[in-house]
Amino acid sequence: MGKVAAVMWAIVLPTLVAQCTSTDQSSRSRNVILVSIDCLRADRVNAYGYEERETTPQLDRLARDGVSFKNAFANAPWTIPSHMSIFTSLYPSAHGLNIEADLFAKTPPQLSASIKTLAGILRENGFKTAAFTAGGGVSAKYGFGRGFELYDETDRVAGNDLDQVYEKARSWISANRRDCFFLFFHTYEVHQPHTHDSFAEKPLTAQQAASIGYDRDLKYTDSVLGHFFGYLKELGLYKQSIIVVLSDHGEALLDRFVGGRADGHGYHLHDELLKVPLIFVAPGLIARQERPIRTQVELVDVMPTLLDLLQIAYDRLIIQGRSLMPLLKGGTLPENPIFAEAPYQGPLWGAVRTRRFKFIWSLSVRSDGVHEVWWDCIQLDEKSLFGLLEDPEERRNIASQRPIETARMEQLLHRMRRSSTQIRQLLGNPERQSFDAELLERLRSLGYIQ
Ligand SMILES: [Zn+2]
Repeated sequence: MGKVAAVMWAIVLPTLVAQCTSTDQSSRSRNVILVSIDCLRADRVNAYGYEERETTPQLDRLARDGVSFKNAFANAPWTIPSHMSIFTSLYPSAHGLNIEADLFAKTPPQLSASIKTLAGILRENGFKTAAFTAGGGVSAKYGFGRGFELYDETDRVAGNDLDQVYEKARSWISANRRDCFFLFFHTYEVHQPHTHDSFAEKPLTAQQAASIGYDRDLKYTDSVLGHFFGYLKELGLYKQSIIVVLSDHGEALLDRFVGGRADGHGYHLHDELLKVPLIFVAPGLIARQERPIRTQVELVDVMPTLLDLLQIAYDRLIIQGRSLMPLLKGGTLPENPIFAEAPYQGPLWGAVRTRRFKFIWSLSVRSDGVHEVWWDCIQLDEKSLFGLLEDPEERRNIASQRPIETARMEQLLHRMRRSSTQIRQLLGNPERQSFDAELLERLRSLGYIQ
């Protein structure tokens, strides 16, 4: 719990300015390419053990060049709060984009101006910064554009955006390849609706249909990413870059019914919506590791890890993640509990996970007594404890049989949230913006609001 307890009190900008030039071969001269494959659950990636179909030959090849984390978890089960945790190294309750989904559309919150983002820090350190995204949940309107010189949002967001995103990114890289850059690459191609037909299999059940449709889109996504990585090699940039591939959350593929729903994401905190792939590749800087790392890590760790790799000081920033550098270098880190929050239903839900237990606190009543139930999805008990060794799918609530462990996990969760409250007091709450009909429509097209 050191990382949560150790909230630092001074807001000081990083002071070490990187010498970001193409002739400098130090770690500070690396480009950073952050690829977010929205909705990609870890257990569909072949390199993570998926065997039913060949879905990810290109990602597997990438992973063989670096390090993959077998137990990486998103800090929220849907796009806005999770991506903001990646970019700020703050949990949703700290960066504040953790409110209920309909408010995101009606009066969009924008990240407090006091919070430093990964893009902003890299820009201050001499990186050119550009993002090619499919918009919607990563719209610049929420503050995602902060620190980017160029923040592109491809309009077609119905799960069919990757070709456009890739072409725009490719063209930008071609024009900027001599500069040191940070590129954020984001796609909803794996997101519903599923639009590709990479496999000819005929599904017999609804679950098979969901599964095959998902795998088809993933196979297509993987092939385009293969071209992307090939293009970087062609330009000689592959070996000069730090490439990170991750997802902001998983996807329900009829694993369980919660409130009558079994597809999509965002509405609960079970592992199928939180466990994501996380791959770091930086030839010559990070040695390949044959086996994936099994230590539990979370997406708030990505930002401090990147800053550490780039030798940019971050020790005086207010963050809640930790650098994974010791693991990337073949060493160890103590197992820390990891946290997730902010499903669609609003800020009160939270989860804490250790290797042994997962605790989900699903309080859905506000202080004024009003139930904050969205999509009527609440089915969990208010406090649920799952024993992950005997019950990895989190089916059986053992909170009443294990009161000591339940109390301990609850205490961890509350401690993290107290830390978040302190951070909010220091860094400020998001500002609410006026109603935005265009954004509302785009979020509706992705299924985030009804
Ligand atoms: Zn997402």
